[in-house]
Amino acid sequence: MDLNQIKIDYTNKINKTENSADLELIRIELLGRNGKINKLFSEIKTAENPKEYGANLNLLKNDLENLIKSKNFAPVTRNLKLVTHNSQFSLPKIGHLHPITITERQLNEVFAKLGFSIYNSPEIVTSEYNFKRLNVPENHPAMDMQDTLYIQEPNYLLRTQTSTIESYLLQNESKNLPIRAAFPGSVYRNEKVNRSNHFVFHQYQAVVVDKGITMKDLIGTMDLMFKTLYGPKVIVRYRCKYYPEVEPGVGPDMQCFNCQGTGCTLCKYAGWIEMGGAGMIHPKVLTMAGIDPTIYSGFAFGMGLDRWTMVQKNITDIRTLMGGNLAYKPNEL
Ligand SMILES: [Zn+2]
Repeated sequence: MDLNQIKIDYTNKINKTENSADLELIRIELLGRNGKINKLFSEIKTAENPKEYGANLNLLKNDLENLIKSKNFAPVTRNLKLVTHNSQFSLPKIGHLHPITITERQLNEVFAKLGFSIYNSPEIVTSEYNFKRLNVPENHPAMDMQDTLYIQEPNYLLRTQTSTIESYLLQNESKNLPIRAAFPGSVYRNEKVNRSNHFVFHQYQAVVVDKGITMKDLIGTMDLMFKTLYGPKVIVRYRCKYYPEVEPGVGPDMQCFNCQGTGCTLCKYAGWIEMGGAGMIHPKVLTMAGIDPTIYSGFAFGMGLDRWTMVQKNITDIRTLMGGNLAYKPNEL
């Protein structure tokens, strides 16, 4: 083979190329594994002067390689045109907030306006915070496995009331007084699930601790809450009740909005709807949290959201609230 002729031919070819794709084709043809140069190397043995032939072939290979490298083309770019469709995407408006979430947010808004912080804490708690620190007497039936869902008896359980959040709050903030906090929360009881009972339900609680807090502050705050939520004409009465974590304890009842107190199926002919439990925080509870009850006092109140939401939305089976099929239209909420 005339190596000089090969050099001339390929030098011309390489010089004439105008893009990197063509140059790559020449490089493969010449220097690829099955290319011309390798083919010539395989013929060394048959050459008249293998040594000289080999040396010349190496020179040819290097020259052409360098020539190819010297051609510095920009990478091949395809003239791609971005195809866009003039479509507007939006999510279908078929979802809505859970009615309990709506009530929780309404309450958060009321309490935020009153200067309360919205607080939260874990759902798995120790029995100390769920019972002892709330002044629940030892061997109280509530501590029984029949009533409480234990994760690991006797120490770890699913909180049975939002007052448990209060235990953590009082301890964590005992050096940060005054406290003004509100918190929604899911709570758990070992209940058989049927149309009127469920093992998970929802409560809302508010706590205030400061110097000189009295029952008057409690009643005033609750009145304001009910009026904000249910209008200025709402009538609320307070009855004495016993809860271990408060002293004295009260239970607010709201006059039935459906019958204005005359009695109907909604209020089971009582004329009143029970709205939860409240009271002045027991001095023992304050002491256990490291707060001096001779200097500070406070109130706490909690209300169940499930039954109230059921009454509001005319839901007759509590399981509906925990299911995936809340059978009413968004505009009813
Ligand atoms: Zn009624």
